Amino acid sequence: MKTISILIPAYNEEEVLEQCYHRTINVIEKLVDYRFELLFVNDGSKDNTLSILKSLRMMDSRISYVNLSRNFGKEVAMIAGLDYARGDAVVLMDADLQDPPELIPELIKYWEQGYDDVYAKRRSRDGESWLKKLTSAQFYRVLQKTTRIPIQEDTGDFRLLDRRAVDALRQLRETQRYTKGMFSWIGFNKKEILFNRDPRAAGKTKWHYASLINLAIEGITSFTVAPLRLSSIVGVIVSLCAFLYMLFIIGSTLMLGNNVDGYASLMTVILFLGGLQLLSIGIIGEYLGRVFNETKRRPLYFVDEYNNEKVKEIVHLH
Ligand code: UDP
Ligand code: MG
Repeated sequence: MKTISILIPAYNEEEVLEQCYHRTINVIEKLVDYRFELLFVNDGSKDNTLSILKSLRMMDSRISYVNLSRNFGKEVAMIAGLDYARGDAVVLMDADLQDPPELIPELIKYWEQGYDDVYAKRRSRDGESWLKKLTSAQFYRVLQKTTRIPIQEDTGDFRLLDRRAVDALRQLRETQRYTKGMFSWIGFNKKEILFNRDPRAAGKTKWHYASLINLAIEGITSFTVAPLRLSSIVGVIVSLCAFLYMLFIIGSTLMLGNNVDGYASLMTVILFLGGLQLLSIGIIGEYLGRVFNETKRRPLYFVDEYNNEKVKEIVHLH
């Protein structure tokens, strides 16, 4: 019998957790040919998430949980879950039921046909503001233009991964993670299915615009050095323009004898160039910051507790 792990990162999800559990169990109970493991990763929740998980596990041995030592963010919670998942396939799902568990049989169907990464693409984005829809569409566009790896648009983390895709992802140990890009980067056989993303069942989203902007910058800087290239190109263009303007000024000074005017143009050029220089330094800084963070080679996360057992030895899986 094949085992399938359903991996659910949860951060302050006390309001939906039980609902999530019941809806998922309803679905997997009909799939009698598989063994299931419901692996929750408690990402340092400050509410009752952990105690709910503990009581669920007491009732139902199909439940496992990993309690991280603090809040590490969803991207890290997911890799922690992948490290602990034991299944031949892993389904990644949000706790808030925005990813309907009813889709799991379809994901498994394509997995059985030999696909390694069956991902669910959103047909609609109900319950998200127009601003979020617009910014995310623009972000995908920019990211796709700057990188050669195909980026899956309108696709979240909701997907089924075969064991070999999971093991591939587990080898990518960078600390600043952009998992959506990693799914594309590892390759393997992909299959897209469409679904309607529901609004959150209860509770509040953990994403603020600040964290979305951070994720966007993460996405770009971890997958492409195009911004660095762009600043070199802008540098060349600006120097060329400056050279032509210089010829013009020399010419007009020698021929027309006009050598005093020009405060306005001088100011414009200085401020424009100053802005460009700061921008390029900022871009270099982004990449340098990433290098700095990666060179520390810290473990990605620490685990406090796994299935009712305190983790005593803080030895990392890698
Ligand atoms: N999440 C997490 N750690 C965090 C933030 C979120 O594990 O620091 C989980 C959260 O519990 C949920 C999933 O990631 O299962 C998606 O979060 P959310 O629904 O808030 O994001 P949205 O769907 O609004 O993008
Ligand atoms: Mg959500």
